[in-house]
Amino acid sequence: MSKNLKIIFLGAPGSGKGTVAEKLIKDYDIVHLSTGAIFREELTNNGPLSEKINSYLEKGELVPDDITNELVKNKINNIHDNRSIILDGYPRNVDQAKFLDTFFKVDYAIYLKISDEVVIKRISGRMTCPTCNKIYNEHFKAPKEPGICDIDKSLLVKRSDDNPETIKNRLKTYYDSTFPLIDFYKNKNCLVEMDSGIESDEVIKNIKELISF
Ligand SMILES: [Zn+2]
Repeated sequence: MSKNLKIIFLGAPGSGKGTVAEKLIKDYDIVHLSTGAIFREELTNNGPLSEKINSYLEKGELVPDDITNELVKNKINNIHDNRSIILDGYPRNVDQAKFLDTFFKVDYAIYLKISDEVVIKRISGRMTCPTCNKIYNEHFKAPKEPGICDIDKSLLVKRSDDNPETIKNRLKTYYDSTFPLIDFYKNKNCLVEMDSGIESDEVIKNIKELISF
């Protein structure tokens, strides 16, 4: 049963947008479009924009709006009209939101609200097991022995860019470019605020209570 809902997720890095979206699509027939996945697909298929995208990603820069807009629009146009869609990671600034507005009417802009302090702990505490890929967090989901996987005793690893300084920079970019979207969608009367400083299953429960998919 499809209701043709158009949903976007807003929130700081570490607010759980991807996790929440992934869990929601398991329960409902929804297309989940993340810009990360769209870029990867274009690269894998050697699409017309793959060289340009690669040149930005290699430098660790954001892919410019015009390229991102074109890819997202193509992708949305290829999805059947009556399917529900979740956009995750897009729009990330007001210009992209205005572009999106010309062909995609957002029903719900779900704002996953979280404090900077929790974001920093969530990201900087993240550790992964290289053997079984289990994810731990030294603040919230610590292994029984520090730095060691409970299952296979492998040494857990941290991503080098998951350090507090890099996270603070990412938060600054978020506040400068993405945060203004909260007001943008508030003015369109489709903003829904959700506390995201809690377990993702609880966040999903709250979303399901609010939106009938
Ligand atoms: Zn392991």
